[in-house]
Amino acid sequence: MKIAAISAVLLVTSFGQAFAWGQEGHSIIAEIAQRRLSATALTEVERILGGQVSMASVASWADDVRYGTHPETYNWHFVDIPLADNSYDPTAQCAADPKGDCAIAEIDRAEHEITCAADPVQRRDSLRYLIHIVGDIHQPFHTVADGVGENTLKVVVKFGGLIKSPPKVPDDDLHAVWDSTLIKQTNYAWGSYVDRLEGDWLLKHPAASQTLDPVAWTLEAHKLAEDMAQGIGNGATLDEAYYDKALPVVDEQLGRAGLRLAAVLNRWLGSAPACPLP
Ligand SMILES: [Zn+2]
Repeated sequence: MKIAAISAVLLVTSFGQAFAWGQEGHSIIAEIAQRRLSATALTEVERILGGQVSMASVASWADDVRYGTHPETYNWHFVDIPLADNSYDPTAQCAADPKGDCAIAEIDRAEHEITCAADPVQRRDSLRYLIHIVGDIHQPFHTVADGVGENTLKVVVKFGGLIKSPPKVPDDDLHAVWDSTLIKQTNYAWGSYVDRLEGDWLLKHPAASQTLDPVAWTLEAHKLAEDMAQGIGNGATLDEAYYDKALPVVDEQLGRAGLRLAAVLNRWLGSAPACPLP
């Protein structure tokens, strides 16, 4: 009985919006951002993180604590918008909850806290959340309510991508394919993925010219999810044609997230903070 209850809990918690981009995606985004920080913002980032700590090395910390010491942050990693909907409704999709509200609310809070929180530990944690969650909401399926971010949509990976041979132990749901498989089938090492983007997408798109509003980022990612879920039913095979369609979107979303994270940090840490008086 007890074992059945525990397995039921494990089953429930093993769904949920699994992780986010895997470690690779988060490190790629953080590395792109760090290379684009102003001297002032970089000094501040190092002061907040406590030394010459790379942003890539702390970019997945939020996933560590989500399942462990900080269950109250669980929902900060996504925004649940129905696929058939194109609008963000904070009352329905970002309500207060014992597991946290949503990614958009946490980005707003963290931006403020990295500059204004009095407690240095809070500033450090908020910076680690900001680095992670700006990444998360650029993963299209982190903006989708259906199938718990399509974690429950089973797929069969048949593409080899640029690696040329399909993964030995393939992920078997659409969300996980977007978290990791598409990245690893392109460049297995995240540093090599950054090099690829620096030599191509980032050369063509050197500036984060679009808005820094996380609601706009979310709705933009949500549109991409609609497109990338099109025609994918339960048990669908993802072939080279799917990979070829997805890769430009993965490149664009990783590149955009890196540029936007840099722009956010340069804005909030690049000059004297305007914190409200206590
Ligand atoms: Zn996450």
